Order: sequence, then C-alpha cells, then structure tokens
Amino acid sequence: MFIDSERIIVTDSMAQNASKRRVVLKLSGEAFGDDEFKGHGLHIPTLAAVAAEIAKAVKLHGVQVAIVCGGGNQFRGADLAKQGVDRARADYMGMLGTVINAVALQDFLDQAGADTRVQSAIAMGQICEPYIPRRAIHHLEKGRVVIFAAGLGAPYFSTDTTCVQRALEIAACEVLVAKNGVGGVYNDDPRTNPAAKLFVDLKTADAVAMGLKVMDSTAFTLAMDNNLPLTIFDMLQAGNITEALVDSSVGTHVAKNLETSYAS
Ligand code: UDP
Repeated sequence: MFIDSERIIVTDSMAQNASKRRVVLKLSGEAFGDDEFKGHGLHIPTLAAVAAEIAKAVKLHGVQVAIVCGGGNQFRGADLAKQGVDRARADYMGMLGTVINAVALQDFLDQAGADTRVQSAIAMGQICEPYIPRRAIHHLEKGRVVIFAAGLGAPYFSTDTTCVQRALEIAACEVLVAKNGVGGVYNDDPRTNPAAKLFVDLKTADAVAMGLKVMDSTAFTLAMDNNLPLTIFDMLQAGNITEALVDSSVGTHVAKNLETSYAS
C-alpha cells in the first residue's frame, strides 16, 4: 500500500479507523464531458462506469473515498475572462459548474449502491450540505462517499488546489488524480513526442526541477510543502479507478521520499 507514513497525523477519528485507507480522488471536468460536444455537457455512460468503480472500492474494500469534482466541461473562469467576463464572476460560474458535476456523480453513485453526501464550499442548502470537514470525516467513517463541490469557494483557485487542501484537512493519506487517456506523468508530452517516457515513481523535487506539469503550480506546491503523496493514473482503463482507490497500484506515484524511475 502506498502510504507515506510521515504524513499521517493521528486524530481521534483516525485512531478509531486506523485500518481504513482514506483518499481523495480528483475527477476533472474532462472526466464528465461528452466528446461529441467538444468535451462539454455530461457523458452519461462514463459517469455510470466511474461511479460503479468507486462504489466497488467502497463496498468490497472499505476504502474511505472523498471526491473533488472539476468543472472544465461546464465553464473555466480563465476562458470566460478571455471573452470579457469579469474574472472573479467567471470563476464563480466555474465553481457552480462543479456542483452540477457533483450532483450528477452523486446520482450515479446512488444507483451503484453507494451512500453519498455532497458538500459544497458555496452554500446551497436544498442541494447539498455545506463544507464541514469534521462532518465529512464522520461520513467517510460511516462508509459514505463524500463529494466536494464548488472548489474552495474562492476565485483564482482551481479544483487541483482544492483536492490537495481537502486531503490535508480531512487527513487523507493520498490524492489520486484521474486523467483521461494519459497513463501518468511523462518526461514530455506523449501526444506530441512519441519517445516521451512514463515515470513509475517520481521524487517531488525532481518533478519541480524538471518543470513537470503534474497539477497546477499552486496545487503542486501545497502538496509538496505538506508532504502529501499523489498518484496520477489513467481512468479510461477499465478497473483502474478501483485499483487506484484500493492500493494505488497504477500510474505514477509522486512523493518526497521516492527515487525517480521510469516504466520499462
Ligand atoms: N474554480 C475557482 N475556485 C476554486 C475551484 C474552481 O474559481 O476553488 C473555478 C475556476 O474558474 C475553474 C473552474 O472553477 O476554471 C472549474 O474548475 P477547474 O478548472 O479546476 O476544473 P477541471 O480543470 O478540473 O475540470
């Protein structure tokens, strides 16, 4: 199991659940979008498949799963700002988009037999709970999947930064970053350079020195400064989401104490 023991802070609730693995899964907007509509809207078959894999990890393996939903399939603040929308307002639109994704995912998780709660950083009482970290931990301990919506509730941030912050606050052992059709972190862009090499393990300091875009820079710095391990994996391979949730045995692992190595 891929757990950096240095990062685990023992809280009362964790002491009672020491055997449970608690992770934060980041699903970006591209995981939700429909290619037929240039990545916008919702692709229902993908949502159903993703939900089934998450429910399996919770039900069969007892993993405590919190999810941060991105919203790029709905709106990205920076893109709207380029078209003349006030940046902060555009970011709020982006955050609202993540709530739509969260509610959609909740529905398919429910259908897959998982017990779920959505917690939003922006109050919207009829749709979801407010973000309350201790309550989120309580839900996780009860075997519920917690979906964090509306990012950090503040403009100029991203859902990458949100997933790292939430993982730190709820004492998750790791952040799992699901990518669409990319197997992990490469030393160059595999879409433009066929000779790009995939890392199996990546020392955080090496990723910084190489200027690798693992996540956006604020998120990555926050993870690095707080010694939080990341796993980046391809969610389009069947079974990968469950495997990542259960034991991180897929993709690239990024952490402070790893020796950087490439896939053979
Ligand atoms: N956003 C924000 N603050 C946050 C999280 C998200 O302002 O804490 C906005 C921002 O405009 C962003 C959009 O919500 O572009 C959607 O989130 P993101 O781009 O991170 O989604 P993803 O790239 O994962 O699909």
